[in-house]
Amino acid sequence: MKTSMSQNLVDLLPLNAEVDFRNNPPPEIELLESALDYVPDMVHIQDRNFIVRLVNDAFCQKTGLMRSEVLGRDAFDLYPNAIADACESAERRVFSNHEMVRSEEKLVNKSGSELLVDTVRIPLLNSRNEFQGIFAIGRDITEEKKREKERESLINSLKDTLNMLEKQSKVLKRMNTQLQDLATTDELTQVSNRRHFDYHLDIEWRRCRREKKPLALMFFDIDYFKRFNDHYGHTSGDVCLRSVANVLSEQMSRPGDVFARYGGEEFVALLPNTSEGIETIAERCRQAVWELNIEHVKAGLPGSRVTVSCGAVVGYPHLLESSKDLVDLADQNLYLAKQAGRNRFEFTGLDNPAEIKAG
Ligand code: GH3
Ligand code: MG
Ligand code: MG
Repeated sequence: MKTSMSQNLVDLLPLNAEVDFRNNPPPEIELLESALDYVPDMVHIQDRNFIVRLVNDAFCQKTGLMRSEVLGRDAFDLYPNAIADACESAERRVFSNHEMVRSEEKLVNKSGSELLVDTVRIPLLNSRNEFQGIFAIGRDITEEKKREKERESLINSLKDTLNMLEKQSKVLKRMNTQLQDLATTDELTQVSNRRHFDYHLDIEWRRCRREKKPLALMFFDIDYFKRFNDHYGHTSGDVCLRSVANVLSEQMSRPGDVFARYGGEEFVALLPNTSEGIETIAERCRQAVWELNIEHVKAGLPGSRVTVSCGAVVGYPHLLESSKDLVDLADQNLYLAKQAGRNRFEFTGLDNPAEIKAG
């Protein structure tokens, strides 16, 4: 960037104190002045003592000062001290460093309103590189700054609104999750409830039917639980229900497994894509309840402790009528386990004929 005016041009300008610019301006200055009146930015030229020697129309219009009020004056004549100090410090830098200086200045025009001016000051150096004065050109950026501030405050208020919305949506999401948990969790045992089971039975049934995969179902029922309540009281019954629910749900090892309280002292497990190992899982569950070692003297069974009976079934949905077939079969097996003496499981595996043929 050019930081000083053409030295030949500066040599032509009679910028010295002896010339009476106000009353008898030299023709070079007059010529330059009329040319600069066409410039929309504020222009003024100062001599080496920072006295204004030339000023254009835009400068006069913006400051509300007449030409005669500006010519022959310096910043301290024209502006309040604080403003003049800022101008003078920029002028000193141009003078000392012989370099262009750009600064934003707050001016006050004659009617008292503030003006923000982006000013560039260029040193005027003659052909001997001596400082002759300053050529200053300033752009009124008051409106631009105001719009910038308005834009900033609009952006900030948008950000605030977005933040608030984000917070609210987080709260809503949390409330939604809580509501969903409430709707799908059994209050007493904190395992899933019957509604949750029914929903997943429907989904898994369809999925396994589509993919021709096996679906396993297990019903668990606490043995002689009525007698337990009668003997130990309903509160102890509740505690027992919680322990049994907890230990049974711990036996479900795969993420897709669903374990729920089916109702009363009955629980259900839904194990998608499981054909083999159901008997192992059923036995593990029976054993886990046995090992809780909750006293049940009225059960009349060996061990005098709380036990469960289990009815299990594995079937292929694409070969069955509806999920009710599986539920009924698991229920029948539970009944058989009870009949056979309780604390045991009964299992039916409905084979896939295609697999038998293939094997
Ligand atoms: P079985 O071995 O044939 O299953 O006998 P059972 O006594 O367990 O079966 P029954 O259906 O006669 O009794 C179930 C009992 O479970 C009766 C009911 O009071 C009790 N029960 C159901 N829900 C709750 C509950 O939420 N809390 C408590 N404490 N008891 C419950
Ligand atoms: Mg029952
Ligand atoms: Mg029972």
